[in-house]
Amino acid sequence: MNRNEEFVVLKIKNRMFEHIHIREDQMTLEEHIQRLMDVIRTELSVKYVRFFVFKDFLKNHEQVFLSYITNSLSVINDWKGKRWSHEQKVYVIDSPIRVGECKKGLLLRGKKGPEIGMMLFSFGHEEIRRFSNDFWEHLSNAIYQFLLGSIELLGVLSEKRRYQKLQRVTNEFYSSMDMEKVLEEVMQSLKEMYPSFSYQLLLSNYNSNNNRLPIQYLDYTEQNTALMDSFLSGEFRMEDDRRKKRSNLYFPMKGKQGVYGVLQITANESIVIGHQDIEFISILAQTASNAIENAHLYQQSKKLIQELQLVMKISQQLNSNLHLADIVKYIVKEVKHSFHADEVGFVLKQTEGFTVLSGSTKYFFQKKIEEFLPFVETFFQTKKDSLFIGHFSQTNYVKNFPYNSLMAEPIRQEGKIIGFAICLHRNPYHFSFESFKLYQSITHHTSLALSNTLFREELERLVITDYLTKLYSRNFLDEQLKQSMEKDDCGAFLLIDIDDFKSINDTYGHQVGDEVLIQIANIILKTIGPSGIGARWGGEEIVIYLPNQSLDYALKLAENIVFLTKMETNPKVTISCGVSFWTKEREDHPLKLFKRADEALYMAKNRGKNRALAYG
Ligand code: GH3
Ligand code: MG
Ligand code: MG
Repeated sequence: MNRNEEFVVLKIKNRMFEHIHIREDQMTLEEHIQRLMDVIRTELSVKYVRFFVFKDFLKNHEQVFLSYITNSLSVINDWKGKRWSHEQKVYVIDSPIRVGECKKGLLLRGKKGPEIGMMLFSFGHEEIRRFSNDFWEHLSNAIYQFLLGSIELLGVLSEKRRYQKLQRVTNEFYSSMDMEKVLEEVMQSLKEMYPSFSYQLLLSNYNSNNNRLPIQYLDYTEQNTALMDSFLSGEFRMEDDRRKKRSNLYFPMKGKQGVYGVLQITANESIVIGHQDIEFISILAQTASNAIENAHLYQQSKKLIQELQLVMKISQQLNSNLHLADIVKYIVKEVKHSFHADEVGFVLKQTEGFTVLSGSTKYFFQKKIEEFLPFVETFFQTKKDSLFIGHFSQTNYVKNFPYNSLMAEPIRQEGKIIGFAICLHRNPYHFSFESFKLYQSITHHTSLALSNTLFREELERLVITDYLTKLYSRNFLDEQLKQSMEKDDCGAFLLIDIDDFKSINDTYGHQVGDEVLIQIANIILKTIGPSGIGARWGGEEIVIYLPNQSLDYALKLAENIVFLTKMETNPKVTISCGVSFWTKEREDHPLKLFKRADEALYMAKNRGKNRALAYG
């Protein structure tokens, strides 16, 4: 090289590398190559320049070329003809391919390395001769250095950009509970890194109206095997369609609890993708999946909290000393609302048949339910399990039963099943399994409260009820009589005594005497009507108080009871009855009322027993 040639090479180098420093991290490969060609054009006074690289070289630096697809660059598969063998040490040759007016080619290679490409240009003969082979060798080397340097730098920069993007996405992920925002950030990063690709988020269980996101429903019957394979295996898959000149990349959207879908990337040409890119996109897909998973978990825990709150609210209500009817009414309302149920009912088993508790919904009071309840009872007797059926009409257990979805839980008292809580809906599969779990938890609490309440109400009844006859106790009647004489207009009082009861005891024994007493109590209970109060006064004496009833009515009732006792008791006994009456026009007192009835009874006994007499 002469001094002039040395100077030209130095100047070209200077101009090329100066560029790198000025542009720093904003430069692109496109700009580098443009710059390179500019410098060559002006410094060597050539008309046209074209720049080619070998595919082998491209492959080794795919991450850079993939990220920055450039127009200035052409790729040639293999054109290393004999004349290009580097042993020949010839750098400028007649080009084996013609591109425009470019006829000459400068082979690009380092001192030791292989050829990486070629620069073609148009040039007059004289001008070529102006430079020695030595010059061309130095220039080739300089360009080679510049290209490798640029590529290395771009590689580092591209890595830096990737990390910046990942950091941005990760920041979004940790700073926001908004899944769609994270997905948007992921898509944005992908588009910035690989602008020529198109993207689809195929999600298996997600609906969104967000039109900024390319979300599609992932159909399980999808014929696309690479896609389904990626979804099912949870691994990256690639599909290269050379005929359509298209590549599809599938990245599974995988969280800790499962695969939520697939990120599909389509390139409109057959592409080479490096493992760094695959790793990068995989991390983005992973972040997107984590966001989806978090959203799922968040929804789930929100639901769980709501359910817990419901159970807590219910058990609080249940613990507040409600009466049976209030408990049922309250639970029925809550269950109906929470499960969007059609019918909700609470049923107690009786020695024969069932009692539907007041507060249950309408259907439980209709005739048809009588066919259904034995089925539930048998189920619990045999299975000792919860009842959860999704399509009842298909089971044939009960014909023409209009409800298809049903949940039922037993109500237990001291381990014994005393009834059931039932929840129904017309449509099949209306209740989810989660609903059922919640229903179980609610009915468990309810069952406890119900059996406690039943026990309490039983106790209360015991105190106001005579244990033998199930008539009210004397205390209770006293109380009622006192209240009635304060607030009502009138009332009648019947005092009943069994005739010759002593001889019944003597003949049949005390136990049979008791049974007779019960028989008479039952006759009284069925005849006195809802407002009449029958009570055991003591021993074999019974009183009946009839608030707001006339003396006439009371006497007729007394005669009826006398008649029925004679007809229906076994062993047969008769009774005598004294009837007294009060009205608010006259000053009176419970004790006086009793005295008058006792006097009438005494008269009835005197007149031959087996009769009713009114006082006066
Ligand atoms: P009458 O009333 O007709 O004058 O004759 P009586 O034999 O019924 O006489 P009284 O009413 O005085 O007798 C009460 C008898 O009733 C005494 C007792 O043997 C019997 N008695 C009282 N309470 C009970 C009871 O709870 N069970 C049974 N089995 N007997 C009772
Ligand atoms: Mg007596
Ligand atoms: Mg008697």
